Amino acid sequence: MTRRPYIVGNWKMHGTRAMLSEARAIDRAAQRHMKVEVALAPPYTLIHPIHREAEQIGVGAQDCHHMDGGAHTGDISAAMIADAGAKFVILGHSERRTEHSEGDARVRAKAEAALAAGLRIIMCCGESAETRESGKAVAFVKRQLKASLPPADQLPADIGDKLTVAYEPIWAIGTGNAATTDDIAEMHGAIRALLVELFGEEHGRDVRIIYGGSVKPENAAAIFAVPDVGGALVGGASLTADSFMGIALAA
Ligand code: PGA
Repeated sequence: MTRRPYIVGNWKMHGTRAMLSEARAIDRAAQRHMKVEVALAPPYTLIHPIHREAEQIGVGAQDCHHMDGGAHTGDISAAMIADAGAKFVILGHSERRTEHSEGDARVRAKAEAALAAGLRIIMCCGESAETRESGKAVAFVKRQLKASLPPADQLPADIGDKLTVAYEPIWAIGTGNAATTDDIAEMHGAIRALLVELFGEEHGRDVRIIYGGSVKPENAAAIFAVPDVGGALVGGASLTADSFMGIALAA
């Protein structure tokens, strides 16, 4: 099944209610560009306000806890973000893995909790600069992704709808230096082969693989022209409707 390009904004720890006007502008623009699936992952505090107003864009979260509830001060469960209006959650982002010491097993437990709560997941993977320099980027990403994803028998039948993989090389995030189109092509090809190995030909090909790391309106068209790039996970350039929709228009 051919899916629409998926353009997801990751606002990270940016955004108070003053940013709702930007979300509104993104939503209005998305209504005019239905060929692209546009989504936003704002901070938790803005999920419900954006969900209440949005007519076109999907709203999601940037993380969730792996447990249903309990004594976990400061944490939030998948069911809670779904209740606030989230339709998806980004998991395994390198900033979570690094700043919160999230290992693959923890990320996988979060994925299982999110799917159980009916959320779609965007599973992030990506290598450090050192790993790339050592020539082991592909092997690292395949191992990381395999260990972070739930096994095939725990994934729903509509896996192509429920799962998106985001390849985000750590050295490209927030640096202005996106990966080269050759590197993206090589990695997306390797990820596709892994998905087919894990989930079979039909399901493995149905999952979108999106790229993240310094995607901007200026480089988006070249990145989207790479085989097997199904969209983008956009940080800094998703904070204004102009730049974010500039990227969406290139898809
Ligand atoms: P960036 O971030 O677009 O600012 O590089 C991407 C991400 O971390 O998802």
